[in-house]
Amino acid sequence: MSLKIVNGWLQGVKQVISPFYDERPINQPISLLVIHNISLPPNEYGGPYVEQLFTGQLNPEEHPYFASIYQLKVSSHLFIRRDGEIIQFVPFNKRAWHAGKSVFEGQENCNDFSIGIEMEGCDTDSFTSIQYQQLAKITLLLQQHYAIENIAGHSDIAPDRKTDPGPCFDWQYYQSLLMQQSQEYMLLNQLQKITNELQKINLWQTMPPNPDAFLSQEPFALDTMQPHEWLQWVFIPRMQALIDAKANLPKFALHPYFEEALKEQKQNVNHLLSLIKQLDELY
Ligand SMILES: [Zn+2]
Repeated sequence: MSLKIVNGWLQGVKQVISPFYDERPINQPISLLVIHNISLPPNEYGGPYVEQLFTGQLNPEEHPYFASIYQLKVSSHLFIRRDGEIIQFVPFNKRAWHAGKSVFEGQENCNDFSIGIEMEGCDTDSFTSIQYQQLAKITLLLQQHYAIENIAGHSDIAPDRKTDPGPCFDWQYYQSLLMQQSQEYMLLNQLQKITNELQKINLWQTMPPNPDAFLSQEPFALDTMQPHEWLQWVFIPRMQALIDAKANLPKFALHPYFEEALKEQKQNVNHLLSLIKQLDELY
C-alpha cells in the first residue's frame, strides 16, 4: 500500500471523524510525533470502543471501566489496530486532543505541535509486526510532509501521569524499520529518476533485447547488451524485485563503468551519469 496525504488526511484508510479537535496555534509547525497505546476495555482488542471513545459515543453501561472515561473529550490523529488497519480521526493539520498536560524539551502543550498515533495495545503485550510496519511507513510519510523533528512516547512528555506506549514498545525495532524503509524509499526513488532520464534522452526501449543477451556471464552483460539496455532490462527490474522482497541488496558501483561506457553515446548523458553516481552513493 502506498500512502499519500491530501488536506491532512491519509488517503485509502478508514476515516472516522472525531468532534474532539480544534485549530492549531498559528505559526507553530508540527514538529513532534507522539506514540501511545490504548485498548478498550483495557487489554482487550478488536472491539469498536476506541472509535466510540474518540467520537464521544462510548456507552458507560457496556463495561464497568467505561463509566469512568465515557465523558472524556479525547482523540488522536491515528489509531493502528493489531492487524495493521489504520483509522484516522482528525486531519493532521488540526489539533487532536491526545497528549493532555505535557511538555517536550521545555515546550508545553504538546497537542499544539504534535501528531498523535495510538497503537492498539497495552503496557504488558508486545505489539504486532504489521503494526510496526505501518507505523514506520506513516512516520516516513509524515516526516516528508511535515517538519517532524522528534518522536516521543506519551510517557516521555507526561511522565508523572502516563506510561504508554509502555515497556513492550520496541523503540529499537521501530528505529531499524525506519532506517530500512527510508533506504528502500530513496533507492526506489532514484531508480525512478534514472528511468525518467533514460526515457527523456530516448535510451528507453519498448522491446527487450534478444533472450540470449540475458545469458551473458559478463558484468553489466557488456558482451551482449548496450549499457542502457542492461540498466533498463536487468539492473532496474532486479533491484525493484529485491527491494519488494525485502532481500539483501548486492553491493554495487555503477558509475565508473557507465562513465567509460557512455563516452561514445551521442545523447547528452551528463544528467544520467550524475543520477547513477547519486545511486552509488545511496548504497
Ligand atoms: Zn497516551
